[in-house]
Amino acid sequence: MMSSTDHLKNYIRDIENFPEQGILFRDITTLIKNEEAFKETINQMTNILDKLDFDKIASIESRGFVFAAPLSFNLSKPLVLMRKKNKLPAEKYSVDFELEYGKATLEIHKDSINSKDKVIIIDDLIATGGTAEAAAKLVEKSGGEVAGFIFAINLFDLGGKELLEKKGYKIFSIMDFPGH
Ligand code: AMP
Repeated sequence: MMSSTDHLKNYIRDIENFPEQGILFRDITTLIKNEEAFKETINQMTNILDKLDFDKIASIESRGFVFAAPLSFNLSKPLVLMRKKNKLPAEKYSVDFELEYGKATLEIHKDSINSKDKVIIIDDLIATGGTAEAAAKLVEKSGGEVAGFIFAINLFDLGGKELLEKKGYKIFSIMDFPGH
């Protein structure tokens, strides 16, 4: 019998050589356009987070927002947006980092997280872990503590999960795929 995670994996579309040659893109638009598959993914994430002690949910632009908003509703926790460079209007902290394809900057409003807030970080997918690591730095610059990370997809052979676990963070994911 297929587990519910195997069932959900059927809704992820693979696109070869996007956005660059050599990248196998794992597309979640085919998951979220099926309301049952989207709901099941959110239910599984909700069950994991329900057992953890935390104050806020911080999500990474832009596909992280899609998963974080329903989790914020389900768990009655405030939602924080971490955005790409020059999108946030108020005073902010910035962190530069390396991506699987290129460089990027992530930003957070200075008043999003209070000192000692325990924060769960959400994104659609973890690959090398660079984006997630930058998000953790933003939480910590804000005076908060990272209570854990949750991703819909873990590209298990790209080392991101191990990188973050070595730094002492808790990592959860719903679906595992190879990176290539
Ligand atoms: P990384 O910083 O290498 O862990 O990359 C994670 C971020 O880049 C996430 O925000 C993903 O949405 C995006 N990303 C990286 N690699 C892929 C991939 N192969 N398929 C889809 N999204 C990806």
